[in-house]
Amino acid sequence: MTTKRENWIKTTCAYCGVGCGVEAQVQSYDELGNARVKVRGDKTHPANYGRLCSKGLALGDTLVGEGRLLHPSIHGMRASWDHSLDYVAKGFRKIIDQHGPDSVAFYVSGQLLTEDYYVANKLMKGFIGSGNIDTNSRLCMSSSVAGHKRAFGTDTVPNVYADFEQANLVVMVGSNLAWCHPVLYQRLVAAKSQRPSMKIVVIDPRKTDTCSLADLHLPIKSGTDVALFNGLLAAVVASEAFDKEYVDRHVEGVEKAVAAAKVDAPSIEETAELVGVSCDDLACFYDWVIETPKTLTLYSQGVNQSSAGVDKVNAILNTHLVTGRIGKPGSGPFSVTGQPNAMGGREVGGLANTLASHLEFDDEEARERVSQFWKAERLATAPGLPAVSLFDAIAEGKVKAVWVMATNPAVSLPNADAVKVALESCELVVVSDCVSKNDTLNFAHVALPATGWGEKSGVVTNSERRMSRQRALVPAAGEAKPDWWIISEVAKRMGYAEAFDYQSAAEIFQEYAAMTGLAAQMGRDLDISPLKLMDEEDYNAMPPQQWPLKSPDSHTQHKRFFSEGGFFTPDARGRCIAVSYQEPKTATSNEFPLILNTGRLRDQWHTMTRTGLPPKLNAHRPEPELHVHPLDAKAESIVEGSIAEVSSSVGRLRVRVRFTLDQRRGEVYMPIHWSDANSSDGRVSQLVTPEVDPISAQPESKFTPVAISPW
Ligand code: SF4
Repeated sequence: MTTKRENWIKTTCAYCGVGCGVEAQVQSYDELGNARVKVRGDKTHPANYGRLCSKGLALGDTLVGEGRLLHPSIHGMRASWDHSLDYVAKGFRKIIDQHGPDSVAFYVSGQLLTEDYYVANKLMKGFIGSGNIDTNSRLCMSSSVAGHKRAFGTDTVPNVYADFEQANLVVMVGSNLAWCHPVLYQRLVAAKSQRPSMKIVVIDPRKTDTCSLADLHLPIKSGTDVALFNGLLAAVVASEAFDKEYVDRHVEGVEKAVAAAKVDAPSIEETAELVGVSCDDLACFYDWVIETPKTLTLYSQGVNQSSAGVDKVNAILNTHLVTGRIGKPGSGPFSVTGQPNAMGGREVGGLANTLASHLEFDDEEARERVSQFWKAERLATAPGLPAVSLFDAIAEGKVKAVWVMATNPAVSLPNADAVKVALESCELVVVSDCVSKNDTLNFAHVALPATGWGEKSGVVTNSERRMSRQRALVPAAGEAKPDWWIISEVAKRMGYAEAFDYQSAAEIFQEYAAMTGLAAQMGRDLDISPLKLMDEEDYNAMPPQQWPLKSPDSHTQHKRFFSEGGFFTPDARGRCIAVSYQEPKTATSNEFPLILNTGRLRDQWHTMTRTGLPPKLNAHRPEPELHVHPLDAKAESIVEGSIAEVSSSVGRLRVRVRFTLDQRRGEVYMPIHWSDANSSDGRVSQLVTPEVDPISAQPESKFTPVAISPW
C-alpha cells in the first residue's frame, strides 16, 4: 500500500476511538514556521471510508506553534535535554532507593502511541519493579475491560464496525454517538437511510442529538441500567430468542444470572417503575430485541463511568450470551472507546492491573515468561494503583514521584481540587506534554516537550481492534521529542541501557509484536506476532489492520470473536455473571438534590489544548453551560441565561445556565472540557465526587449529587 499520493500522507485522527483514517498534505509554511496542512478523510480506511467529523477536519488548523512546549525546563528554568533527563532519572532513582519501587508512579494517556505506552509499561513493570503505571483510560473504559474479562476471560471486543451496517436493531446505551463518535453515527445515519427498516434505540437519561435518529428513546433514571438489562435478560430467556444450543455448548452461569435478574425485574411494570420509563416503551424495546437476531448493543461512558460500571457491562453482555448473538455479522455487544489509543494502551498493559499484552499478574507462568522476554531487572508481581487511588497515595506521601505523560489529571480526574493539592505536595512531578500551559503543568518540577499529532509517528488501535499508523507530517516543534525516546533516555540513565536502546518506533513495535506471540502461545486473544518480521520500510507502509493477525497481510478480514464459542476462559466457555441493581454510591439529599451528569461536546476534545485553537470549533459552544430542566431551575429562582453557583460535597463553581426539556427532572448536565487554563470557572471535575467502581476502579463521573442557586 502506498502511503503517499501527490504528497498526501496517510495518517490517523488524533481524537476519538473511532480511529478515522486521514490524508494530510503540507502545503506551505509561514514566516513563523507554522505549517498550512490540508486534511481530508481517507477513503480507503475501513473505519471511516473518507468521512471525518468537525474535529478531524480541523486537524490541520491545530499544527501551530502557539501554546507549544518548546524546550525542557527544571523548576521553570530552561534546561538542556541532557540535564533534564539526568535530573529525572536521578530523582526517580533516589526515591526508589530510599522508599522502594512503589514510591514512584507513571500516569499516562490514551493519547500516547502504542510504542510510547509499551516502553513506559516495560520500564515501570519490568525494571523499576512496580505496577504503578495507570492511564487516563481508567476514566474511559476500564469497566468494559473488567466486564469483558469476567465474561470472556480476556479483554476482547467481539465485533467490528461493519456490523453497524448489517444490524437490524442498534441499541445505544449511555452513548451520545452523534457528538462523541460522529463518524460512527454518520455510518448509522447512512445505513438507516438506505434501509429504513433498521431500528435504532437510544437509552440515555438525556435527549441528545443521537436521539434524532432513534425510533425509540428510553430516558432512564441515571444509574439504573442494570435493572433495565436484567429485565431484558428475564424477557429473552422466556422467549424464542433464548439460544439453548449456544448456551449448552458455550456458556456458564446462566441460571444464577437469570435468578438475579428476576429479583431486579419481577415484572415489566416494576422494572419500568424502577428505571423511570413507560411500561409500553420498555415492552416495545424488549419485544424488538426478542424478535431481532441481528441486534447490536453499542455502549460507552454512560455505562462505564459508574460505581456499578462493570455490572452494567456484564448485564449487557449477559443478554448477548444467552441469545448467542455475539461475534456474528450485525449482532453482538460493542464497547466504543473514547480515546485514539485507549485500545493500544489496554493491549500493551497500560492499566495498573494488567501485566502486559493481555497477560495478567495472577498468572505465575505469565510473569515468568514476561520477565524472560524483557530480561527484566525486577518484574512487578502485583497490580499497581489505579488512577484515583494513585493520586490519593500521592496526597498521603506514599507515592513521592509521579511522571504524567500527555494528560491533564488536574482537570480530568474527579475531585480535581484534591488532585491539585496532591501534586502540590509531591516531591517530584515530571510532566511531558506538547503544550506549554495546562493545569497540571503548573505543578511540574520538570517539564519535557513531547511531539504532538502531525509530528509523531507510531501505531494506534481503534475500538474495533484495528491498528493504524499515525505518521509525521511536519518537523517537531522546538526541541520536542517522541515520548518513547524520552522514556527510553530516562531508562538508560537509570541503568537499563541495554533493554531500552531503541533507535526507532519501528523497533519497539516489532518487540511488542513478538511479545504478543508469547501471549498467544499462552492462549490469549491478542496476537500480532507476524508483524515482528516487519522491517522499517514495512512498518512505514503498514496499512490499517485488525488483530488477531495470522499473517502480515491479513488486513482485509473482518475478524469477529465467539460466534462459535472459543472464549478465553480455562474451559473455553463464556460466563453469564449474576448482577443486581445497586443504587449509586452517593445519593441525592436535601442539601444536594440534583444529579450532575458530565460529558463531551461535539466540537471539543478533552481539555481543549488542541481543539480550543481553531475558532470554528469554539463557535459551537463558546463557553461552559449547565443544562437544567426549566422546572428545576425555577424551583431555585434561577433565570435562563443567568450565572448560577453549583456545589457538591467536594467543590463549587459558577456557570451559565441553559434551560432545556432534554434533561430529566432532577438531573443536570455540564461538559468536561473547560479548565482553569482556559476559563475563569468551568472545571466541572472539581464537583465530581471520587466514587469508583469496586472492580474496575473507574470513577463515577455521571452521578454526583449537587445543588444549584442563583449567583
Ligand atoms: Fe477523529 Fe473521531 Fe471525528 Fe473520526 S470521529 S474524525 S476519529 S474525532
